[in-house]
Amino acid sequence: MDYKEHIAIVQDWPRKGITFKDITPLMDNGKAFKSAVDEIVDYSKDKEIDLVVGPEARGFIVGCPVSYALEIGFAPVRKEGKLPRDTIKVDYGLEYGKDVLTIHKDAIKPGQRVLIVDDLLATGGTIEATIALVEELGGVVAGCAFLVELTYLDGRKKLDGYDVLTLMQY
Ligand code: IMP
Repeated sequence: MDYKEHIAIVQDWPRKGITFKDITPLMDNGKAFKSAVDEIVDYSKDKEIDLVVGPEARGFIVGCPVSYALEIGFAPVRKEGKLPRDTIKVDYGLEYGKDVLTIHKDAIKPGQRVLIVDDLLATGGTIEATIALVEELGGVVAGCAFLVELTYLDGRKKLDGYDVLTLMQY
């Protein structure tokens, strides 16, 4: 399927100089959304995944239907102060400044095989931080899946040695 026809390109958003890839038209198209989720599910099937992990907020949108289809759980990674129980956290670099991601301490059991899902791979900072959280809890990152990859930002460099699926590339 040509998913790119369901991606809206928004110039200068959220600020000047950024060309934002908006996945909401893809989500709005039931066939395209199901097909994209199914591709990630197929990619995961031989990986003996125990748990799906996704960073807020679009990692939830793509990750939850994958976990539902695989009949396994989903654990959210969130910005600091959003998860109600004991968490671990990691600082990560943004284009300008820093941010913090957290996960519940009991979200992953040591040795569990984890699929990380997000909508888009850009610089790779978010996925790198998410991997750090999963591995600190003893999880094994068995795969990383994204709808979109911005190849010109070289996020793959941070994923050396990990198994990665992206459904469209710009
Ligand atoms: P990274 O940390 O630089 O790889 O950025 C990826 C994160 O930022 C993902 O969680 C995305 O949801 C978000 N993001 C960055 N650029 C875009 C975009 O163009 N469209 C949608 N999400 C984006």
